[in-house]
Amino acid sequence: MNKLVIDFEQLFLSLPGLYLILSPDLTILSSSEAYNLASMTKRDEIIGKKLFDVFPDNSEDLTADGVSNLSASLQSVLKNKMPHTMAIQKYDIRRPDGVFEVRYWSPINIPFLDQHNEVACIIHRVQDVTEFVIIQSQQQEAEQLTRGLQTKLSEMEIEIITRAKEIQKLNTELEAKVATRTATLQQSKIELEAQAKKLKTQNKELEQFAYIASHDLQEPLRTLISFASLFEEEFKGKLNEDAETYLNFIIHSSKRMQQLVQGLLDYSRIGKEVSLKPVNCNEIINEVMDDMAASINESAAKISVQPLPELTGNPIEMRQLFQNLLSNALKFRKKDTSPQISITAEQQTSNWLFSIKDNGIGIAEADKDKIFTIFKRLHNRDEYEGTGIGLSHCRKIVEQHGGNIWIDSQPGLGSTFHFTIQNKS
Ligand code: ADP
Repeated sequence: MNKLVIDFEQLFLSLPGLYLILSPDLTILSSSEAYNLASMTKRDEIIGKKLFDVFPDNSEDLTADGVSNLSASLQSVLKNKMPHTMAIQKYDIRRPDGVFEVRYWSPINIPFLDQHNEVACIIHRVQDVTEFVIIQSQQQEAEQLTRGLQTKLSEMEIEIITRAKEIQKLNTELEAKVATRTATLQQSKIELEAQAKKLKTQNKELEQFAYIASHDLQEPLRTLISFASLFEEEFKGKLNEDAETYLNFIIHSSKRMQQLVQGLLDYSRIGKEVSLKPVNCNEIINEVMDDMAASINESAAKISVQPLPELTGNPIEMRQLFQNLLSNALKFRKKDTSPQISITAEQQTSNWLFSIKDNGIGIAEADKDKIFTIFKRLHNRDEYEGTGIGLSHCRKIVEQHGGNIWIDSQPGLGSTFHFTIQNKS
């Protein structure tokens, strides 16, 4: 049988492990191909060179301690002539282009003793554990992250529970407050309703009184006026000057009183007749203007009327409303300026908004509310004739039709009366 000849050098070179053979003065004597591959070196370029010249520390890593750790391990092997297993090392590898690559190694240094029991050389064997270390460190990071998240989560849970408790407390307080408010409001509502009812009754009684009083005053007034007129007819020219003046005063004042009483009577009648009918405001305004043709012509007034709606209401009262506002617009004109009046209407959600604008004397801010009160006037009768009843009529009529009336005005710059009428059609 032929004896098998083995080329041990070739065998060493081809070993799957990563081996480096070092002399006691740490010169590289040999290396396995697997070692060269893993350390990115060429065999013939490292043989004969000093170990740490070939594998210096990574100059960019200030914490690099590969050289000192390996050096200490090799010294211990030389001294103790015993194998030395090193802990996993970070020992970066210099690529051919000079840049270092991160590498972790698990090295063991074993002495090879000669026949005199001296260290002939050192077998340096390493395993590249870079991937393993990186995976482990990633796992550690992930675990740390998970732990961090878990802590955050429990903190958040505590926060949520605390907040929920606070909210619950606030809710309970709020509910208690709302309950108290609701009870107070309910009480106020009951009181207001009772007051409104009382006021309504009082108002009705007052209107009834005004109606009866004005109605009953008419008769003696009529008698007074007719006898005063008879007296005037019979004694005209037979009285002295003073007596005639006094008689004129009596006739004039009783006629005025008759007007006022009539006004009061009309006022208390508004709303008594609840017969609602279709009211064509265009027709009404035309009739009113026809009736006023004389004063319109005399004052050379220009009146523009935009198309007005047909609505449901009391035609007589609506007519009176337009008549009062139009006659005021003509009456309270500026001296030497002919009246310019415009009448418009605009539909709103549940109302019609009417506006009657003039270029008359206007009204001071402070008087704007007063003028809707019965018998309230801002001028004496020598300046402008009137009873002070017209606008109070207007307000009552508008309110009977579910609306409001108000004025926009500035002294000397004219006035605009606005009123709304509920749209019932
Ligand atoms: P009267 O016209 O009989 O005085 P009203 O009740 O109609 O009574 O008006 C009350 C007061 O409001 C008037 O005396 C006047 O001072 C003021 N007023 C009414 N309409 C106008 C207007 N268009 N321009 C300026 N003032 C007005």
